[in-house]
Amino acid sequence: MKISDIYKEKNRQNKSVVSLEVFPPQTSQGEKTIFNTVSGLTKKPDYISVTYRGNSGNKTLEIAKKIKEDTGIEVLHHLTAVQNSHQDMAKILKNIEQAGLENILALRGDLPKDFDANIKGEYLLARDLITDIKQRECFSVGAATYPEGHVSSPLDIENIEHLRQKYDAGADFFVSQLFFENERFYRLNEAIKTARITAPVTAGIMPIMSTANVERLIFFGASIPTKLIKIINKYKDNPEDLRKAGLEYSLEQIDDLLAHGVDGVHIYTMNRPSVANVIMERYL
Ligand code: FAD
Repeated sequence: MKISDIYKEKNRQNKSVVSLEVFPPQTSQGEKTIFNTVSGLTKKPDYISVTYRGNSGNKTLEIAKKIKEDTGIEVLHHLTAVQNSHQDMAKILKNIEQAGLENILALRGDLPKDFDANIKGEYLLARDLITDIKQRECFSVGAATYPEGHVSSPLDIENIEHLRQKYDAGADFFVSQLFFENERFYRLNEAIKTARITAPVTAGIMPIMSTANVERLIFFGASIPTKLIKIINKYKDNPEDLRKAGLEYSLEQIDDLLAHGVDGVHIYTMNRPSVANVIMERYL
């Protein structure tokens, strides 16, 4: 099923879409954990997204296909464009289509340190990948949005004109970068609606699970509010309590987002079964 239709159906029911994100693990044990968790969910998310790393072969395709075939849950295949030629991308898209997948999150991907736009890569922006994918007519396409602006941008909110280009290219829905202050997401949502961009926008939520997690979040450019800093400081030497408090903080965020009637909530599970289970039991 196309994810754009899932958003439409949920909207008709006056409900928010609830989705989970997993990433392709490095080990076969990690893969087993994902499949056991997903097939063991008593309440199913509306879709599961699988992240993509350009240099890892297409593990994303393998995992997304298996989740869909084994559980019937709809999947969203992330795909990054940078450093791919149009010819390479045509092959990748054909493989995704032949695997029976119907949804792609079209991303530029992070630029490598030595990236030179004149030499490598034919895609410089996600918008160009969206245009290519939409020409195939068989995919529903999502794109990224940033409540605190992209890390490379001087703005502290998404550049709406850049977002509009992705929308005009055919993005059917947007998934946001993670954030810890809901006000930032509401501000972005309002700016998007004011710009008459009518595609649904899903809020990205990541429970803090460890102090190592926090360092990565700073890399993503997420602001960490004082309340959360206090939680991290209080439990930094007690990993189990930090996990519980981190999850509790996210649940409060999600409660508030759902009460505001957001289009969707997307949970970055970091492949942790406990996170997926707690969230699905509570919200579906
Ligand atoms: P774009 O939308 O192309 O934007 C890239 C930059 O260019 C931004 O600064 C933007 O403001 C600027 N820009 C856009 N349009 C224009 C224009 N017309 N003129 C000038 N500048 C412009 N990365 C992965 O490697 N794998 C993943 O699976 C993955 N999943 C993600 C999922 C989500 C929900 C999010 C939010 C991010 C994800 N990322 C992933 C990270 C993403 O690849 C990086 O943030 C990347 O640097 C930007 O990708 P984009 O699609 O947002 O790019």
